[in-house]
Amino acid sequence: MTADLRVGFGVDVHAFEVGDHVMLGGVRIAHDRGIKAHSDGDVLLHALCDALLGATGLGDIGQHFPDSDPRWRGADSADLLRSVCEQVAARGFKVINVDMTLLAEAPKLAPHRARIVTRVAELLGIEADRVNVKATTTEKLGFLGRAEGLAAQATVLLHRA
Ligand code: MG
Repeated sequence: MTADLRVGFGVDVHAFEVGDHVMLGGVRIAHDRGIKAHSDGDVLLHALCDALLGATGLGDIGQHFPDSDPRWRGADSADLLRSVCEQVAARGFKVINVDMTLLAEAPKLAPHRARIVTRVAELLGIEADRVNVKATTTEKLGFLGRAEGLAAQATVLLHRA
């Protein structure tokens, strides 16, 4: 019998606003801007949630946690991810690996990469070597290049026994 593998892809974008930190991959990072969002605006975790929901055919993060619902105001994205993981696990899926990309001029990912990998692995309940986080600038082009916000992409591979 062939293996039941599912791939999922997610994208998220948030604008900067006045503030002193951003949340990335469940890690608080000091920055000279904050993130404008209904939740804590963690683009890495939001893209990851969408990738997991996509792989399991469960729609998207907006359907599960609508920004019109006051319940999710200021929500910790780690809680959103935990909820998504419960739904993924309830359908018998396990995460094989996760690959995420932050698109940003700043903050730089490198000093925080290890902590983010550890945190995401812990939230997903998998080994850290199954989680990859990378970053790119957009060579100063577009809204990301002008440092107007942050974007992230995530790909996951799931397996159902
Ligand atoms: Mg978002």
